[in-house]
Amino acid sequence: MNFNIEQIRADFPILQRKIYNRQMVYFDNGASTQKPRQVIDAICKYYESDNCNIHRGVHHLSVVATEAYEETRKLVRDFIHAKSAGEIIFTKGATESLNLVATSFGKKYVGAGDEVITTIMEHHSNFVPWQVMCAERGATLRIAGINDKGELNLAEIEGMMNDKTRIVAIAHVSNVLGTINPVKKIIAMAHRHGIPVLLDGAQGVSHLPVDVQELDCDFYCFSGHKMYAPMGTGVLYGKEKYLEEMPPYQLGGEMIRDVFVDHTTYNDLPYKFEAGTPNVEGVAGLHAAILYLKGLGMARIAHYEDTLVEYATRKLLEIEGIRIYGTSANKASLVSFLIGNIHPYDAGMIIDKMGIAVRTGHHCAMPLMDFMKIPGTVRASFAFYNTTGEIDQLIAAIRKVREMFA
Ligand code: PLP
Repeated sequence: MNFNIEQIRADFPILQRKIYNRQMVYFDNGASTQKPRQVIDAICKYYESDNCNIHRGVHHLSVVATEAYEETRKLVRDFIHAKSAGEIIFTKGATESLNLVATSFGKKYVGAGDEVITTIMEHHSNFVPWQVMCAERGATLRIAGINDKGELNLAEIEGMMNDKTRIVAIAHVSNVLGTINPVKKIIAMAHRHGIPVLLDGAQGVSHLPVDVQELDCDFYCFSGHKMYAPMGTGVLYGKEKYLEEMPPYQLGGEMIRDVFVDHTTYNDLPYKFEAGTPNVEGVAGLHAAILYLKGLGMARIAHYEDTLVEYATRKLLEIEGIRIYGTSANKASLVSFLIGNIHPYDAGMIIDKMGIAVRTGHHCAMPLMDFMKIPGTVRASFAFYNTTGEIDQLIAAIRKVREMFA
């Protein structure tokens, strides 16, 4: 597939939509991406010809649906270059993947007096599960700060590592600042101390090529809906050595091997962590989304989106009174900013009236907002179907906001 923007846009029916009689500009991809026709068709095809519960049937439809589901697991394995399909667990999203690890890893490995390291830039989904697990288990959550550019300080993080540290849980890419964290270095550092690392890849996997073996991360979590796949799909990658040891997160059908009246034995990986009927049609859509991303090529997507971030940053800085939050040289996919003293919510409302979707507020990162001493930001987050022309429209809208508040 060529990286032809017009052709790409034609694959996304919703991009033709008009909002307030204007061609919609969708810059809320960090919250959720739009879906290409190929994904929508895959879901329709699933319901029109393959719909059936998986894993428990000998009849034809069940076998077909099961095979398709397991093929997607292999596709995900290859997409993030995991060692085995058993290390790929389907969840309903990054949040569920993160809760699974915090709960299950916590039960197995974290006790009173232990420590967990995270950072101030985390999304609540990679913060609250650790905070609560630590409180329940008498452990301490240690929180690394950031510098003025929105970057982590590696020396600070290494200084927090000690023989009580059980895990480091950090974002691959910040959903507020856009910072691509130096995760490979952090992982190598943690491993020198014998500490596993979880990466919250919710904002990573749709923008960057991800190779979990090369990164050597111990867990990697992401959501399907942020990578052009349906809502309610997600993945937890975990190294087998941890997943084998961790207790199941939920109990019920499929995750069992045998149930006796007085005890239960558990299924092999990955099924041990997939209790109940999964989102089979969502996974069919995830399959189509991954094929679509592979067709474009993650490296080309990353390169194109970098040009959008650079263009938006340059144009924003031409406007008086703009403050950008997250100015690391190593950034992906988004710009977060404030316009003078205008409240982000007010700015977002006016920008919306011009048919442009941006997100405003704390972006589920309240500790980060407190750290930066701001109520929130306006965030424009990009996808490969966005254009510099659309960014020009955003810039015009921001100028209008300034005029209205002058
Ligand atoms: N982590 C990060 C960095 C995110 O940006 C998000 C969503 O915005 C999440 C986790 C949670 O993702 P989901 O709501 O799809 O579970």
